[in-house]
Amino acid sequence: MSEARGAAGSKTHVAVIGGGVIGVCSASWLLREGFAVTIVEPGEIAGGSSFGNAGCFNPSSVVPMSMPGNLAKVPGWLLDPLGPLSIRWPYLPSIAPWLLRFLQAGSRERVEKQAAALAGLLRDSPGAYRPLVENAGALDLLRRDGHLMAYLTRADFEADAFSWQLRERNGIEYTVLERDALWQLEPTLSRDYQLGVFLPGNGHTVNPQRFVNALADAFLRDGGQIKRAKVEGFDLTGDRLSGLRTDAGFLAADQAVVAAGAYSKQFAKQLGDSVPLDTERGYHIIVSSPEARPGLPIMDTSGKFVATPMETGLRLAGTVEFAGLEAAPDWRRARNLLKLGKRLFPGLRESYSEDRLSVWMGFRPSMPDSLPVIGYSRRVRDIVYAFGHGHVGMAAGATTGHLVTDLIAGKPPRVPIEAFSPRRFG
Ligand SMILES: Cc1cc2nc3c(=O)[nH]c(=O)nc-3n(C[C@H](O)[C@H](O)[C@H](O)COP(=O)(O)OP(=O)(O)OC[C@H]3O[C@@H](n4cnc5c(N)ncnc54)[C@H](O)[C@@H]3O)c2cc1C
Repeated sequence: MSEARGAAGSKTHVAVIGGGVIGVCSASWLLREGFAVTIVEPGEIAGGSSFGNAGCFNPSSVVPMSMPGNLAKVPGWLLDPLGPLSIRWPYLPSIAPWLLRFLQAGSRERVEKQAAALAGLLRDSPGAYRPLVENAGALDLLRRDGHLMAYLTRADFEADAFSWQLRERNGIEYTVLERDALWQLEPTLSRDYQLGVFLPGNGHTVNPQRFVNALADAFLRDGGQIKRAKVEGFDLTGDRLSGLRTDAGFLAADQAVVAAGAYSKQFAKQLGDSVPLDTERGYHIIVSSPEARPGLPIMDTSGKFVATPMETGLRLAGTVEFAGLEAAPDWRRARNLLKLGKRLFPGLRESYSEDRLSVWMGFRPSMPDSLPVIGYSRRVRDIVYAFGHGHVGMAAGATTGHLVTDLIAGKPPRVPIEAFSPRRFG
């Protein structure tokens, strides 16, 4: 382990804003690089979007959310309040510019570039985590069982041909399984699903919240600090950072990382960067001691949700809701996931007593082009952005943390990051 030292000889102090998967991974790699590091988090570690996601570490998630042909599909989705994509109409004026950029991002040419950029970030996601997870003694939380994408018909699979070409062009291996071969791999699956694609390079965690907390515990054990505070802004002296203003006082820092997930936009704005960050809210429902428990995570391509076998039960997670950061959750969306889950796994019951269910809603930090923001702030190079990971924050956590460490240390990033520029929207 090297030691990163400031001008006065003391260790350079880096403050990381946010204790989600991105903040904790960034802080962990920075500490290993020899920096003194403090995570500043007002709530629980992994209490945000990193709490209740589907837990998938999928290098295959190179396919952006906005794809050619979306324009034709979106109105149908939006008309169904429980469909995979919904909008609260009072939020439409706020989200309209984001949606426009989202549709613009879906041209073939742009999608090819976005996929290539994501491929660099997501390459061997489970392997990228391994050193951190090993150091935390938490290998039991990291599984490399692969992932299954289930289709009702071969025609549905063929309609997704462009997505599969994108994966192939970016080095993702997969095997197509039909009927008996599929049902043998996953006996709990409904026989209505005729085709599945097995992705052997994908992994998952059996508990995202415990996973991130295990990394945070190792970070503390190895000498990192966690400060319970809400960051309000930065104190700059000329073109250098002197510290953070928080609701619990001033925190001196030489450098900082903005990893506040869906709440990061305010910080970028203070630093002269206008980024179109919004939130795609998502839901989960967990059935404890489920009657049907798949052996690996399964994406239902028609219902657009993932069923992940977790230590707390079967987690059905997904859907996108545009309603901003303030509106109350619509728990019907979480409960509807159970209905969809029953279609995927006929072994599940029609209904459950409340003590066997738990529901959750979280704020994906999303950019319209499905790419995160990773790079220096416009105003000072002492502040590095790492937010906007949308649907792939868990998968991208370890490598994003590495990239943040490269930037803070003034080294060339180990993966190309031009596509993640904070200034790409002008
Ligand atoms: C239903 C669902 C399923 C998903 N499934 C997957 C999946 O299978 N695989 C995958 O890769 N991704 C998945 N995701 C996406 C993934 O959860 C996110 O991309 C990821 O958790 C984002 O991590 P983060 O650290 O940027 O944000 P967060 O986890 O939200 O952390 C941000 C932190 O910043 C803190 N913060 C906010 N404001 C301040 C402030 N002023 N000062 C200090 N701290 C502050 C918050 O309290 C929070 O703890 C899913 C998301 C959802 C909603």
